[in-house]
Amino acid sequence: MKLSEKIQHTKRPFVISGPCSAESETQVHHVFQQLAQTGKVHLFRAGIWKPRTRPDSFEGIGQIALKWVKDASKENHIPVCIEVANAHHAEMALKAEIDAIWIGARTTVNPFTVEEIAQALRGTDIPVLIKNPINPDINLWIGAIERFEKSGLFDITAIHRGFSVYNHRKYRNMPSWEIPIALKEHYPDIPLICDPSHISGRRELLFEVSQKAMDLNFDGLMIESHPSPEKALSDSRQQITPSELNKLLSQLILRSQDAPDSIHSVLQEVREKIANIDDRLFDLISDRMKLSEELGILKYQNNITVLQQKQWEKIIKERLLKKNDYNLSEEFIRGWLNEIHQESIRHQINIMKQQKDGEKN
Ligand code: PEP
Ligand code: MN
Repeated sequence: MKLSEKIQHTKRPFVISGPCSAESETQVHHVFQQLAQTGKVHLFRAGIWKPRTRPDSFEGIGQIALKWVKDASKENHIPVCIEVANAHHAEMALKAEIDAIWIGARTTVNPFTVEEIAQALRGTDIPVLIKNPINPDINLWIGAIERFEKSGLFDITAIHRGFSVYNHRKYRNMPSWEIPIALKEHYPDIPLICDPSHISGRRELLFEVSQKAMDLNFDGLMIESHPSPEKALSDSRQQITPSELNKLLSQLILRSQDAPDSIHSVLQEVREKIANIDDRLFDLISDRMKLSEELGILKYQNNITVLQQKQWEKIIKERLLKKNDYNLSEEFIRGWLNEIHQESIRHQINIMKQQKDGEKN
């Protein structure tokens, strides 16, 4: 059976775990054995070549670790996947009979490299797990899937590991859940795994992100695990021990995707109320844009700029003061106001252009 089918047929969550990086033969054996003992891990992972953002970071142990991970996988009867970041890595993974490979976020961004790896794997049926690109561009993610499919590789799984942002306070990589959800709409048959480790960047957040992924109906989780996380050579703050992983998994609440008949009518009622509110929201936004156009005409006639920075800062400040009354997060208030503001600017620019064109004619 294809790995992607196995992931979909396993009772959720399908779990991929292992260290960020293979560091020594003992470490790999130790951690795989402990993970196997939990009885909850379906696929091992270990980074052998580590594409790191900064050059002084540990960049992986290299080729020698292929045998370590393969042997430890066989001993525990659990298949293993590794990251490949170029065609040469892909060839070595095939030669070492590694069970599956994943494409890292720093590789998915580069169509040339993705193409070279896809070509190197042509003619094989090795399962490929594809992480989202580091930037929030769904087309690069889709493009990478297409490149593997064009090379005849159809055992594909997607991994959501979040997106880089400058200086985010909470996450290492912003989850932007709407992007994996959009990928699922585009490829309903491709299983979706969440990687809470690289989204969180710190172990305290792992449970929250894993639970969210389960509530969004992801098929599985890829979580980094190390025998002594604080001594790990890479991603030390986000790794957990196998027994902590076991505990995390047993605390997850797995909700059913289908609502029981008994609550259908209540659900329907609440959904209708929500749909009514959405109708009103859209009508209100549309009215708001008409007022923006009035503003646009006034600004045009008086030759003043569309963006009035002080006014805009005042609007945000006033709403944020009331965030507790609204019971809305600062992130939401800023994001939502920002979207409305951008749309308002578009309306004002259009109307100003129409005024100008009208004068010319
Ligand atoms: C990893 O899985 O260790 C890794 C480097 O991931 P990413 O490509 O998501 O940064
Ligand atoms: Mn890592």
